[in-house]
Amino acid sequence: MPPPPSTVDDARTRAPLADGGPETPLAVLRRVFGYQDFRGDQAEIIDTVVAGGDALVLMPTGGGKSLCYQVPALVRPGTGVVVSPLIALMQDQVDALSALGVRAGFLNSTQDLAERRRVERAFLDGTLDLLYLAPERLRVPDTLDLLERGAIALFAIDEAHCVSQWGHDFRPDYLQLSVLHERWPTVPRIALTATATEATHAEIAERLQLTAARHFVASFDRPNIQYRIVGKDKPRAQLVDLLRAEHPGDAGIVYCLSRASVEQTAQHLVEHGIPALPYHAGLDSRVRAANQSRFLREDGLVMVATIAFGMGIDKPDVRFVAHLDLPKSVEGYYQETGRAGRDGLPSTAWLAYGLQDVVQQRRMIDTSEGDATHRRRLAAHLDAMLALCETVTCRRVQLLAYFGQTGQPCGNCDTCLAPPEAWDGTLAAQKLLSAVVRLDQRGQRYGAGHVVDILLGKATPRVGQLGHETLSVFGIGADISEGEWRGVVRQLLAQGLLAVDADGYGTLRLTETSPDVLRGTRSVLLRREAPRTARPARQSTRTATSELGADALTVFERLRAWRAATAKTKGVPAYVVFHDATLREIATRLPTTLAELGTISGVGVTKLDTYGAELLEVLAA
Ligand code: ADP
Ligand code: ZN
Repeated sequence: MPPPPSTVDDARTRAPLADGGPETPLAVLRRVFGYQDFRGDQAEIIDTVVAGGDALVLMPTGGGKSLCYQVPALVRPGTGVVVSPLIALMQDQVDALSALGVRAGFLNSTQDLAERRRVERAFLDGTLDLLYLAPERLRVPDTLDLLERGAIALFAIDEAHCVSQWGHDFRPDYLQLSVLHERWPTVPRIALTATATEATHAEIAERLQLTAARHFVASFDRPNIQYRIVGKDKPRAQLVDLLRAEHPGDAGIVYCLSRASVEQTAQHLVEHGIPALPYHAGLDSRVRAANQSRFLREDGLVMVATIAFGMGIDKPDVRFVAHLDLPKSVEGYYQETGRAGRDGLPSTAWLAYGLQDVVQQRRMIDTSEGDATHRRRLAAHLDAMLALCETVTCRRVQLLAYFGQTGQPCGNCDTCLAPPEAWDGTLAAQKLLSAVVRLDQRGQRYGAGHVVDILLGKATPRVGQLGHETLSVFGIGADISEGEWRGVVRQLLAQGLLAVDADGYGTLRLTETSPDVLRGTRSVLLRREAPRTARPARQSTRTATSELGADALTVFERLRAWRAATAKTKGVPAYVVFHDATLREIATRLPTTLAELGTISGVGVTKLDTYGAELLEVLAA
C-alpha cells in the first residue's frame, strides 16, 4: 500500500503525472474512490475504453460496473456521457459522485430550466466529468446539438438490456441509441448490463451496433448471497420469523405479486414491529418516490414491493430479498435476488413457494393475451423456475447453468446446507392420478384440496354431499400427510405430469405424460418436504456483522449512528457518506490519524477531507 498523501489535494483538479501526461486509471481509483485495486475485468475494460475502444460488459449486480465508465471518464479528456433510464435515481448518483469530488450533473425531465442551463453550461465549459442523460433526451435535437458543441470522453449506455424488445424493461428510446455511433464515430462506447442471458447479449450487440466492441462476460455467481427456497405455509408468519431470527434491523426487499398483497404484507410487518413501506404501480407517484427515497436514505427499512421496484437501486446494504410469490422466470428471480448484498457482505435470498403458486401461474399463462408462441415462451420460463424450486442439487449450480455457466456445489444454499432427501413417489403419483381419473370418469373435476381430501379418506361435508366416499380411491393415501400430498401435487405439476385447467378453479387434469406413470412405465422421483417448523442450518449462515468482535461492533454501531445523522443533514442516502464495508474496516482497524484513515478502502481524498477529522473524533470518544 503506498503511503497516503500528507496533504489532501483537491480531487477536482486532475493530478497530472510528473511528465504532464494524464493520471493512470489505477491512480484515479486510489485517489478518488479510495480503493486499492481493480476487481475482475475492471482494469481490462477500463484500458479498452481509455484507449478509445468500444466495450460490451455483462457483469452481475454488485460486480462494479459503474467504475468501468467512471474511471475512463476521469482519465480521458472531455465529459463522460451516461445514458440511463433511471431518472429517479440520477440525483442520488450525482450526489454520490459529488461526495467523491467528481463533477457530475444530469439532464432529465424532472429539473427546472435554470438547473438545466447550469448543467449545460458546465458541460460546454468542460467542467463536468460525468453527465447523466435520460434516453428520451436524445430525441430532442437541442440535446444532440448541445453534445455536438462540447467535448465527449465516452458514451456509457447503462442498463443496456433496455434495448431488448423481449425483456420486460424494454425502452423504445434505447433503439435509437445507435445515433450516437453515427454522429460520434470516434467516441468510445461502453454498454453495461446485469442481464445474463445469451439472447439479450446478442441483441444488445446488434441493436447498438457494437460491431467492433470487446465483450466482457463476468461470472454471474454471487457467492455472498445464500439462496433458500422453502415450502409456503403461512408466508407472512414465515417471513416475520425469518426477519426476527436472521435479519433484525436489516434493510431488505420483499417481493409480492399483487398490489393488495404488497399492502397487506407491509402492514403485517409493521404490526409485528418491523418498519416496512409499500411500493407498487397503483400508488400515487409522489408516495412511491417518497417511499423509495426513505428506503435509500434510512437504515434498516423493509420495502415490500411488486417487481415494479428495484432496477438500478444501488443501495449496497440490502441484506435480504424475500419472495412471497413465485417469480415468473429464472431471469426475474436472479435480477430481483441480485439486489441483495451489492457490498459483497453475506445476504439472504429467500423464496416461499407452494402449490397455489404453480396453479396460479399456470392459469395466468393459459389466460394471457398473445399468441401460442408467446404462451409457450412463458411456460418455458415457468418450467425453468419450477425446476430450480424442486431441484435436489445445489441451487447455485442450477442457477448458473441456466445462464450457461458452470459451478461447483456451493455450500451456501439450502440444498447444500441441508441436502433434501429424494424419495420414490411413483406409487403416490399413481394414487393421485387415479383419483383424478376416477373423478373424470364421473364427468367431474376438482382442485387439489378436494382430491387430497379423498385420498386421505376425510369425510368432509363436500365428500358426503358428492358421495365421494364410495370411490375406490377414497382413503388410499392415508399413509401420507396432507402437507406431503400437497407437495406431491405441486411436484407433479412442476414435472408436467399433471396440469391445472384455466377455468379459475385450479381443477386438476391429466397430461400427455400422465398415462406413462399410471402404466408404471415411468417412475417419479420427488423431493421430501421439509417439516414446516424446520429451521435452516443456522450454524453456517453468517450475518453481515457476525465477524465483528463485541468491541468492534460497538464502534461500528456508533459509526452508523454518526453516518445516519450526517446523511440526514446533507439530505443524501447513508451509503453516499460511507458504505458499511468501509465503516466495518474503520471499526476493526481503529485508525488514529488522517494518514491511517486514508488507507482504508472506500476513503478517497475528498471524503478524507470532508469527514476525516469528524470521524477521528467519533473514534476518540
Ligand atoms: P454494479 O453497478 O455492477 O451493480 P457497483 O458499481 O454499484 O456495481 O459496485 C458495487 C459495489 O462494489 C460498490 O459498493 C462499489 O463501490 C464497490 N466496488 C466496485 N469496484 C470496486 C473495487 N475495485 N474495489 C473495491 N470496491 C469496489
Ligand atoms: Zn449450493
